[in-house]
Amino acid sequence: MKRYLLTPGPTMIAPETLLEMAKPIIHHRAPEFIPLMEEVRENLKWLFGTKNEVLVLAASGTGAMEGAVTNTLSSGDKALVVDGGKFGERWVNICKAYGVNAKVIKVEWGQAVAPEAVEKALSEDPEIKAVFIQASETSTGVMHPTKEIADIVKKYENTILVVDGITGVGVFPLPMDEWGIDILVTGSQKALMLPPGLAFAALSDKAWKMVENSKLPKFYFDFKKELKNIKDNQTAYTPAVSLIIGLSQVLREMKKEGLDNIYKRHARLAEATREGAKAIGLKLFAPTSPSNAVTAVYAPEGMDAGKIVKFCRDRLGVTITGGQDHVKGKIFRIAHLGYYDRFDVIVALSAIEFALKALGHQFDFGAGVKKAMEILAE
Ligand SMILES: *Cc1c(COP(=O)(O)O)cnc(C)c1O
Repeated sequence: MKRYLLTPGPTMIAPETLLEMAKPIIHHRAPEFIPLMEEVRENLKWLFGTKNEVLVLAASGTGAMEGAVTNTLSSGDKALVVDGGKFGERWVNICKAYGVNAKVIKVEWGQAVAPEAVEKALSEDPEIKAVFIQASETSTGVMHPTKEIADIVKKYENTILVVDGITGVGVFPLPMDEWGIDILVTGSQKALMLPPGLAFAALSDKAWKMVENSKLPKFYFDFKKELKNIKDNQTAYTPAVSLIIGLSQVLREMKKEGLDNIYKRHARLAEATREGAKAIGLKLFAPTSPSNAVTAVYAPEGMDAGKIVKFCRDRLGVTITGGQDHVKGKIFRIAHLGYYDRFDVIVALSAIEFALKALGHQFDFGAGVKKAMEILAE
């Protein structure tokens, strides 16, 4: 059975990248590592839209999220967290683990946060030191208004905006310096088209100032130590060398495609997926502010979404994902990020249509694929 991995992480990896990573390992303190890391460093700055360093950590994305908290805050500090899904919840849990006093803006799943809610919370409590959001809440398929929130947080001299860009960076624009994002984090297994194992974090000058006063405990994810090292094209501890070799190839390819084209491609694939799902007669879970990384779709009334996911995976070789928590069984999610083209959209939608037909759902068979093809042909 031919397999297709259409989940919002891990995502598919280009054969060229896999070959690159199969090369013999090199030593990270040997001279040949230096030009490799130097190139990766420069290209990461390009991707993040920042003049500052992008730290490279051997961890999944959550490692960079944890580091963003522990390197900027102190026990008892106040923070504001936008929680509109599983990953918003993760910011809350990290804050809790470290004794950070998090005020939570609960957002209904499938909805984006209203920037006014952030503005209100900050004006009521100017002691809030950090605002934590997701650029793209992968569990619900929502894009939060990062730029609008950055415009608000900017006005507060002692408050930073920390953005989980794990399914945002490389999918839609998040130009860090231009928008005034203070910390931007991502991971390797999403739009960066690599296996899991690398996390990235970049900090603004405002955030680096907060690092100076932060008292939370940290050892492995010590950003100051990493900053010092990356300036010498090194990392504090043994880096995931093979992944960094793969990353150098991926970033070269991304530069060839160009950021604008990358964002346009994702927008088109996302639109074709959403319109295709609608043409099947399905309802979108996040219709008002959808993320171009992943589309969340309601299963037909009375049908367990888990059955669709299972049929696609076990019978068709197509891996998509279901919903979590209270939307488990209600929605399924189709990713369209990273090493992904128009044919992958067709694979995803045709798999859904095959599954729905097999599960006895009545609909205009082929309508979703047709609609997507029309959009992708434009
Ligand atoms: C995948 C993901 C994460 C991090 O997950 P890891 O499993 O630690 O890599 C965090 N936030 C978002 C929005 C994600 O999509």
